[in-house]
Amino acid sequence: MDHNHLQQLQQLDAAYHLHPFNDNAALAKKGTRILTRGEGCYVWDAEGNKLLDAFAGLWCVNVGYGRKELGEVASRQMQQLAYYNSFFSCTTEPTVQLAAKLAELTPGDLNHAFFTNSGSEANDTILRMVRHFWAVQDQPQKNILIGRHNGYHGSTVAGASLGGMKGMHKQGGLPIPDIHHIDEPFWFIDGGDLSPEEYGVLAARRLEAKILELGPERVAAFIGEPIMGAIGVYIPPMTYWPEIERICRKYDVLLIADEVICGFGRTGEWFGQQYFGFQADIMPIAKGLSSGYIPIGAVMFNDRVAKVLAEKGGELAHGYTYSGHPVCAAVALENIRILQEENIVDTAKNVVGPYLAQRWAELGEHPLVGEARIAGMVGALELVPDKSKRQFFADRGSVGVVCRDFALKEGLILRATWDAMLLSPPLVMTTAQVDEMFDKVWTALNRTAEVVGVARA
Ligand SMILES: *Cc1c(COP(=O)(O)O)cnc(C)c1O
Repeated sequence: MDHNHLQQLQQLDAAYHLHPFNDNAALAKKGTRILTRGEGCYVWDAEGNKLLDAFAGLWCVNVGYGRKELGEVASRQMQQLAYYNSFFSCTTEPTVQLAAKLAELTPGDLNHAFFTNSGSEANDTILRMVRHFWAVQDQPQKNILIGRHNGYHGSTVAGASLGGMKGMHKQGGLPIPDIHHIDEPFWFIDGGDLSPEEYGVLAARRLEAKILELGPERVAAFIGEPIMGAIGVYIPPMTYWPEIERICRKYDVLLIADEVICGFGRTGEWFGQQYFGFQADIMPIAKGLSSGYIPIGAVMFNDRVAKVLAEKGGELAHGYTYSGHPVCAAVALENIRILQEENIVDTAKNVVGPYLAQRWAELGEHPLVGEARIAGMVGALELVPDKSKRQFFADRGSVGVVCRDFALKEGLILRATWDAMLLSPPLVMTTAQVDEMFDKVWTALNRTAEVVGVARA
């Protein structure tokens, strides 16, 4: 793109476009980066830079960029039937096929899909349906949902309320009533002298304490991401989720696994529940469902919840104009076909994942890295001032952005949350691309160490 055109776009962007999760005044001064093209694990920006996208857009481009089949399927469906709704006792073929496919693919008896446009909307749907589920069983007081501090469940009123991001709660008067939070499991900072396994059980028992404090007859559901993404890829010890599941069963609290990131192969399993060995009653999905090619999300309900909603729920006073949109459903189906037929999830688990884990562990030896955590194709490097201690930087958040910017200069996109460098590449990343990523990260870590004064490796 020629320089004048780029500048013009940046000016228009600054004048007319409010960006999500940005300081818009600062961004307007700096100028937006405009992306123009993508192929496999790479994207190109308007200045012609080729960037290795180790974050898959925003955790979502699981099959990689530039898959022509997805565009072709969308084009065919648009030309045949661009839209019809699922409200008026109607639906479309791709919508039905996708619901059936998801029932087959998802763990346990999560057999019933309600379609949304995003993960946030899925969590809004869940908030209402969970309360409705208990209300129609004569337990309207069982309406509290418990989430976790620093959890992320989207940005709508319900999503941000269920999430535990303080900065989000501050804007708009959240959380809404009858939502509570417990501390998140993060052994690196919070685990003290306990082994991760011991800590995982104790961290889970915070849920039991909260349920008992509120009264089990008040608690409708617990929601958590199998791996906490947005806060910095917090991977709980393997003991955490089975204990959470046990507690939910004991008090008849519905268990919601927010698989918006973990779903569709991110951990090397199709779903995070399979990675950690537990079974949810309700599961929101989005992101990898379409590999980000088109907006679509869904809530998967298990047989028990769906049966109550269908048989006792009456008319569901809930739905979106685009629930089950045929074009989005067709693209999601094709995306799942690609994931399955090309064995992308298996390869992530058995070939690229193990190699990535090995190289990630090597990055963990860098003096700036306190912990290199990884599960399948999602991980983080926790940058620390003193490698011998499990501690954050005193001015937390100042170092991650430095490293991120050095990585970008090397042609690598990583995300920084506080001082954790987050990794979530397309699942189709090759071992050669893992090596390329490694070299770029190592260089960025060295440059960062020079700036912050940690000994260079
Ligand atoms: C991204 C995300 C959401 C929200 O999805 P949107 O499509 O952005 O609305 C919800 N939950 C988790 C775990 C996410 O990572």
